[in-house]
Amino acid sequence: MSNIINDVLDFTKENDVKFIKLSFCDIFGSQKNICITSEELPRAFKHGISFDASALKGFMNVEESDLFLFPDPTTLSILPWRPEQGRVVRLFCDIKHPDKTPFEGDGRHILKKAIKKANDMGYVCKIGPECEFYLFELNEKGYPTKIPHDFAGYFDLGPFDRGENVRREICVALDEMGIIPESSHHEQGPGQNEIDFKYSNALDAADNLITFKSIVKSVANRHGLFASFMPKPILDKSGSGLHVNISLFKNGINIFDKEIKESYGIAQSFMAGILAHIDEITAFLNPLTNSYYRLGYFEAPKYITWSCQNRSQLIRIPAAKGIYSRMELRSPDPCCNPYIAFALIINAGLDGIKNNLKLTNPCNLNLYAASFEELKDIASLPTNLRDALQKAKESNFVKSVLPPNTLKKYIDYKDQEFEAYLYASNKETIEEKLYFQ
Ligand code: GLU
Ligand code: MG
Ligand code: MG
Repeated sequence: MSNIINDVLDFTKENDVKFIKLSFCDIFGSQKNICITSEELPRAFKHGISFDASALKGFMNVEESDLFLFPDPTTLSILPWRPEQGRVVRLFCDIKHPDKTPFEGDGRHILKKAIKKANDMGYVCKIGPECEFYLFELNEKGYPTKIPHDFAGYFDLGPFDRGENVRREICVALDEMGIIPESSHHEQGPGQNEIDFKYSNALDAADNLITFKSIVKSVANRHGLFASFMPKPILDKSGSGLHVNISLFKNGINIFDKEIKESYGIAQSFMAGILAHIDEITAFLNPLTNSYYRLGYFEAPKYITWSCQNRSQLIRIPAAKGIYSRMELRSPDPCCNPYIAFALIINAGLDGIKNNLKLTNPCNLNLYAASFEELKDIASLPTNLRDALQKAKESNFVKSVLPPNTLKKYIDYKDQEFEAYLYASNKETIEEKLYFQ
């Protein structure tokens, strides 16, 4: 067995680890897990742990339902909110067929392919997600309500901001799980919060985001609260976005650094590629019917434009220098499957580089205040899930990134969700049922 696997096995012995959560995501980005005892871990590394892949949305059919979870030893984390004796650790898994070939629908596999493609072209991609969420009160039966935990706004202080202690505990838990928290604040909406953690390579960024969401849920629950990542839980308040900050390094140089003229041109093509494909991939970045209430309001984008520093745009170039230079894609929301979302974004950018696409001129308008005349020639993102799905169905680009089965299953489920929503007499109720997550 490799050294790193031995290190993990030693760690579990030395730290009184009793249970191992083997974790992965379905194609919609919902985290799933199976718990094994530490005695079973060597077997898991060697032979994998089988599960019924037909019972998970979008994976396999009953006729061929066995898949195996192989823990990735580099992802070991203690779950700090579980007991100190008889500890619980978490490992993310790669999913494989019985013959040990990778399962094509595994988001980690899809993202690894995108990362490899970037590497083969000479680029290393770094991603820093910024995830917003709401804290809501629970009712007397312990079920979530839509009553925000406070009525504070952007950057407010306690005691008006009642999320301080929750955010502090989330940051401590992040740290204990090896994710470096960088900043946290009260966001614009009542009960809305944001915590940003350090950027990393794309696979770690997606794993970290999944970990982040489960930490937020667990800590909120300990405080008698419900954390929601729904993109627009309160229709007339700020939505929750998942801004995706991206930089690309070639031979150790960040090509988003504007000072280095020759390579910045490549970064511009990367952005042009994302702008060119954004409508085809929106169904994956904004996966819910509810996602489309967010776009176009409260600093969430609606138009396919870019600019420096302007928060009304789809792509913004933050005022950062050197290794921190990056682009920020502002449309994704926290309900996306980050593995699939990042894979599509990276591929779109690489496509722009390959085809040497030219970036359009920046749009320096405040798009929320612009006139009809100013907006009339600007393309917009799909305005509902059905249109977004239609664009995905027609896209050869999406077909080139996602395996046919995964794509078909994703679109079929989402079509059904849209139908259910379309015919529901109370849209808000159906969305809560489907997505109050
Ligand atoms: N909440 C806004 C969104 O839906 C973003 C606000 C911000 O720039 O942090 O994307
Ligand atoms: Mg924010
Ligand atoms: Mg941001």
